[in-house]
Amino acid sequence: MTDFKAENWRSNSRPANYWHNAGEKIQCDLCPRHCELKPGQKGFCQVRGNVEGEMHTFNYGISVQATIENIETEAVNHYRPGSKILSMGNVGCMMACSYCQNWQTSQVKFLNDKNVHHYTPQDVIDLAIENGIEIISWTYNDPVVWQEFVVDTSRLAHANGIKTLYKSALYIEEEPLKELIEVIDIFSVSLKGMDPEMYKKQTKGELQPVLDRIKLIGQTDRHLEISQLVVTDLNDDGEDAAKTAIWMKENLGTHIPLHLVAYHPAFRYTKERTSIETLLKLREIVLEIGLEYCYLGNVYADNVSNTNCKSCNEKLVQRFGLSVEVKAIDNNGNCSNCGTKTPIIEPKMGVSKKIEVPNFQPKRSLTFDWKKEAVNSLHIIVDDKHKDAFLRIERLPVGEVEFLKITAGLERLILSKSNAQELLLSVQIDIDVELDFLPVLDRAHFPVKNASTSSDKYLN
Ligand code: SF4
Repeated sequence: MTDFKAENWRSNSRPANYWHNAGEKIQCDLCPRHCELKPGQKGFCQVRGNVEGEMHTFNYGISVQATIENIETEAVNHYRPGSKILSMGNVGCMMACSYCQNWQTSQVKFLNDKNVHHYTPQDVIDLAIENGIEIISWTYNDPVVWQEFVVDTSRLAHANGIKTLYKSALYIEEEPLKELIEVIDIFSVSLKGMDPEMYKKQTKGELQPVLDRIKLIGQTDRHLEISQLVVTDLNDDGEDAAKTAIWMKENLGTHIPLHLVAYHPAFRYTKERTSIETLLKLREIVLEIGLEYCYLGNVYADNVSNTNCKSCNEKLVQRFGLSVEVKAIDNNGNCSNCGTKTPIIEPKMGVSKKIEVPNFQPKRSLTFDWKKEAVNSLHIIVDDKHKDAFLRIERLPVGEVEFLKITAGLERLILSKSNAQELLLSVQIDIDVELDFLPVLDRAHFPVKNASTSSDKYLN
């Protein structure tokens, strides 16, 4: 725990929920770590602390840049496939995974001011509405340590007819989770493995509370999907996949999807990337145990993440990386071929209406070479001081031209390779501002510019 100076407390410090007095200290009851803090101390997450005997949150409304992504980015395949989401990621985390894919923003000591933005709940809702987005996602660095902002904004989202998605490692106490269940529609839980020792050593968390909280969500009507990052030499020998599948079957049922996700070397863990052969082998194990839906994540290949009908094997949803096509589901959610009920919730709600911009006049353009950069997704960055703009996206050598709108206040959106033949992505914009690309190494990854040393400026 780090001491911090009272004179540095800033306007972001505000009273937090979920704590109690513990003698001379206070104890945090938000996550199972239960930090006990003297006045002036911050917790393990660095974004909550004891301010004159009261628990405060320091990151209310503090986020990395809001980004337009796809629901599949969040390991959610059975809810409105292809939906655009507004991804919001805070700073700080209650865990410290050795292989963290977002360590430059989850671990506060590595944070750079340039990656920090301030939002009010109304700002987030306005961005979603102005950009025609119907799902807000709490993601990247774990939203557990953003509880107050997540709950306030999610309530406002529901009041405006917007759905909410919570992507988390779920190392959280039961009471705050119950509060979330009231305001979150879709939970995507990252279960790191099934070995308690691995959890302690590699994530600085604990397994059992995570399993207990997943069970709690499983008892509600909230949408739930589970993902597991398959990390080379940590949980890739088949034992964790088997234990995970057995536990899910016994505690959640066979209908909940499991996503096996390729890891890339990051932070303090530098073993090689997970191979597709390993993922395919683990998927066989999972399916043999009896889970009905097992998808591969961070893999850009055909036939690794489609959803097929359980009765007639018709291809219901075709996926390639983050690109999705709903193929054979009728308006009632049934298989168009045999009429069997599919597992997909609101299958037609995610399909965006095509925008036509007949007199598009490009002012700036950039081209991205997928092969040269050896990635499959990227964030397009539009300089932050811009007005509403249209982007023209062309995929080469073959592909439909697509127009996207990005409103003032939004700087980022994700684009990914849409098929194995695609070589180049050409992006044009109709206003005169800087355009840039940042490679996205994997789907939960939030790429940052200027990652460098610590800044406590926004957190004191
Ligand atoms: S939320 Fe932060 S302060 Fe609270 S117990 Fe967890 S790590 Fe400690």
